[in-house]
Amino acid sequence: MQRYFVEPSQFGEREVAIVGEDARHIGKVMRSKPGDKLIVSDGISREVLAEITTMEPQQVTALIIETLAASGEPWLQVTVAQSLPKGDKMETVIQKCTEIGASVFLPFLSARTVVQYDQKKEEKRLGRWRKIAKEAAEQAHRSKIPAVEMPVKWEGLMAALGSCDLVCLCYEKEHGQQLRDVLQPFAKRIDPKQTYKIAVVVGPEGGFSEEEVREAEAKGAVAVGLGRRILRTETAAMAALTCIMYESGEMGGI
Ligand code: SAM
Repeated sequence: MQRYFVEPSQFGEREVAIVGEDARHIGKVMRSKPGDKLIVSDGISREVLAEITTMEPQQVTALIIETLAASGEPWLQVTVAQSLPKGDKMETVIQKCTEIGASVFLPFLSARTVVQYDQKKEEKRLGRWRKIAKEAAEQAHRSKIPAVEMPVKWEGLMAALGSCDLVCLCYEKEHGQQLRDVLQPFAKRIDPKQTYKIAVVVGPEGGFSEEEVREAEAKGAVAVGLGRRILRTETAAMAALTCIMYESGEMGGI
């Protein structure tokens, strides 16, 4: 069943309005008609089963039939902090990590980031990234759309990570402590009834400088290896995030 995210203001007591591109998608792509059902979420806490009552090119109105339990959200809030990669790799990171369960994306600039930062261009790309996060969340049947933040400089990253319960800085030169060595004890000591914030921090194609690793560790981050192979920058976050989902019981076993 097709799922759409709408603004909370589009929800009424008994009806919900789907507008713009989503309304066009329902009519032209899905060829839906009055009487058809769909799932509508406000991306925060409300998710309903609704039945289409009226259809216009720019607005579809649906009667709320049933409030659904918000499903599809992991219990750990994971921030994927990704040093801006070249080309459109960030789109791959956002799409795949949304499917896997990331809650926040924090692009950042580090010493070896090769992408030239251009405020105008970034604002345009941010709109595209947020659209990718919304579409991936709909496809993955999530109840929330992950937040995609505006890129920050290294200092901004350090400040943002201060509120996390665990910060895993992925560092290929860390041959001792691997990700699971950190995740297992963390998963054992946390209370499933609480919410926790974890960050996965991934460097650019050229990796992190030694100074960056030391500075991040001084601020409480933990440098971890992701195995003996060197992953592409766009692969590393997906691998680390999957391990966090696995270790925290999202794939059973707890
Ligand atoms: N400087 C690296 C090299 O030797 O070619 C390349 C960095 S890698 C392409 C990009 C990022 O992915 C790294 O900064 C790191 O965050 C992450 N990464 C890749 N492989 C990793 C591994 N085996 N362990 C931990 N992090 C890894």
